[in-house]
Amino acid sequence: MMRAMVLEAVREPLVERELPEPEPAKGQVLLEVAACGVCRTDLHIADGELTEPKLPLVPGHQIVGRVIANGPSADRFSEGDRVGVPWLGWTDGTCRYCRSERENLCEHARFTGYDMDGGYAERTVADERFCFPLPGDMPDEHVAPLLCAGLIGYRSLRLAGRGERLGLYGFGSSAHLICQVAAAQGWSVFALTREGDAVTQELARRLGAEWAGAVGDPEASNLDAAIIFAPAGDLVPEALRALAPGGTVVCAGIHMSDIPSFPYEILWHERTLRSVANLTRLDGDEFLPLAQSVPVRTEIQAYPLADANRALGDIRHGRVRGSAVLAIGG
Ligand SMILES: [Zn+2]
Ligand SMILES: [Zn+2]
Repeated sequence: MMRAMVLEAVREPLVERELPEPEPAKGQVLLEVAACGVCRTDLHIADGELTEPKLPLVPGHQIVGRVIANGPSADRFSEGDRVGVPWLGWTDGTCRYCRSERENLCEHARFTGYDMDGGYAERTVADERFCFPLPGDMPDEHVAPLLCAGLIGYRSLRLAGRGERLGLYGFGSSAHLICQVAAAQGWSVFALTREGDAVTQELARRLGAEWAGAVGDPEASNLDAAIIFAPAGDLVPEALRALAPGGTVVCAGIHMSDIPSFPYEILWHERTLRSVANLTRLDGDEFLPLAQSVPVRTEIQAYPLADANRALGDIRHGRVRGSAVLAIGG
């Protein structure tokens, strides 16, 4: 048996349960979970804003674990290897998206901690092809946020294009990681937070932002790109207004409140508005070594497994500096 935090019904708190240890199926590894990052997506799932989770569900898709057994015909990893399990847990490999290097959009994709049980547990199983090897000596709890917050931030930054001035709207788990990458790549980073959030603004400056202040401040204008991490649709026209001609606004979240209507003139002059969905394995193969070389430092707030509800509540109320992580392994 193993301990897990389980979503049994949406809009209800997770409940601590003893579950049978999962059995690795063909091509899967069995992992002892060391740490699992808590993502805002987990909150959207628990709140019923993502409408089709498996239930009951063990959430969690930023899993750092060690291989303790291989299922039939799994041979990519050896016992004891440290691996990461991200949101993209399985694809069909055959649809139009998989065949064109866009597996993040796979028509039959299965997601960790949504369609399949994830890492809010002492053990989990994962398809070995979708795990990332995690060499290096960065502590498990600090690696975990790289697996979604870092990866989605990286994909967003890549799709934001090139330029000099980058705005980050919302400075939470993802932004605090990608701010460091962007600064290392030469971007002048403008971190936009809630008005008066001096602690987060100070964190942003410490992590390489050239400027940090409140959304709407005219200092953060003439941007070549803006990434919106906060799930607030009214930031979209706000960010478009802050863009230079030819600039791009990337919406990085999986869920956002409705976007208010806006005049065409703020999109005119070849400004682009786009979203980013999920990740590909190639994103991970590029980002994880890059994170090591920058090196990206993760600011974490750690919680025991049994306190997963408290971690989710802290994300909901903006009380997390950096990333919330469940520290699970002994
Ligand atoms: Zn996530
Ligand atoms: Zn596919």
